[in-house]
Amino acid sequence: MDKIETDAKHVLNQLGELSSFLASAEVTRDIDRCFEKPIQIMQKTMSFDVSVLYKVTNAVEEALLLKIVQVSDPDHLRKDLYPGRRFQLDLKNPHPRFVNEVKAFQTRKVSCINVPGDGCDIMGFVYLPETFGGGYLFGGDFCGKESRVKDYEASVCEIICNYLSTILIKSQFEELAINDSLTGLFNSRKIKEEAQRICNRFRRKSGTRAAAVLCDIDHFKKINDTWGHLQGDVILREVGDLLKSSMRENFDVAGRYGGEEFLMLFEASDMDTAFSIVERIREKIADHRFTAIDPAGLPDKDRHISITVSMGIAENRAIPEALTREEWISRADRALYRSKETGRNRTTVWAGELEMKSPEDEHHVPDA
Ligand code: GH3
Ligand code: MG
Ligand code: MG
Repeated sequence: MDKIETDAKHVLNQLGELSSFLASAEVTRDIDRCFEKPIQIMQKTMSFDVSVLYKVTNAVEEALLLKIVQVSDPDHLRKDLYPGRRFQLDLKNPHPRFVNEVKAFQTRKVSCINVPGDGCDIMGFVYLPETFGGGYLFGGDFCGKESRVKDYEASVCEIICNYLSTILIKSQFEELAINDSLTGLFNSRKIKEEAQRICNRFRRKSGTRAAAVLCDIDHFKKINDTWGHLQGDVILREVGDLLKSSMRENFDVAGRYGGEEFLMLFEASDMDTAFSIVERIREKIADHRFTAIDPAGLPDKDRHISITVSMGIAENRAIPEALTREEWISRADRALYRSKETGRNRTTVWAGELEMKSPEDEHHVPDA
């Protein structure tokens, strides 16, 4: 069987489609999905029998560690390629079936070596900086007698790889720009922007309301002083996870507002609903057994740590009562301060400077 020649117009159309596909934000958030279209192009447009995507999981001294992420092999011609398979290649003396993989990795380019009947004939390298996870190898195998990889096919593969690399790096930077690297929640800048977005809407539209909640870990300094900063970080990360799992999708957002302080925004929430959600979260955190770590930073299964948090809630509404972002968050902060002042491990709702709901009020939940 000979390979089918593809005309230039068709290739260009496919690259155009790839470009629109990769430009959509929901695709770039899911790295594996970015490769769906390139794999199709490799197979259909360039008529390779098999296409494959490897993730470079590590490269140490003379070994390249790969994991197969996706394979398209409708005729089951390469039984050695299946998703999830991990293997190690000797960079100096690679297995003959994987010479193209090694060459593409070493040159950081597209490598085309005809490997009749055995191994991929074309392999490209998608570069990613090490902090974003060492990159991908992506290529195809023509399983006839001789693949005769055409120059244009190598160029198409090169364009795809370079484009993927650019798009993936961009999406990773965007991710870094909005998320806090320790907890994975929104970072301080992004959560403030979210609060601003709600305030802007309130200035235009009536009939809506939202709650801002500040949550601060009680006596967190003592945790650091007693167990070290590493232990403190483990607790921050777990608090982040607990907050994340308590959010109503599409309604609530949470961010790390400062060191051990978190800001949550509940949209379309009246104060009673917000209060009961927040109390549930507070109790969940107080009941949680936080992972304790030993001096080497490894989990100590025999020990757990308990902490509590204090909360302050403030409401914002649409015009004519709309508050500025600063005033809204400042009210939540003053309510939080009241929770601290009156014993911690409690939630206070801002209800006007003088009549702020405090421990004596219905909303106070006494210490256990
Ligand atoms: P309070 O109940 O009044 O809130 O007491 P506190 O000890 O929690 O408050 P304080 O503001 O005195 O201390 C906060 C501590 O949080 C001090 C700081 O070292 C620690 N911290 C801030 N950011 C981080 C971080 O990223 N990792 C760790 N491990 N600690 C942090
Ligand atoms: Mg604190
Ligand atoms: Mg604090």
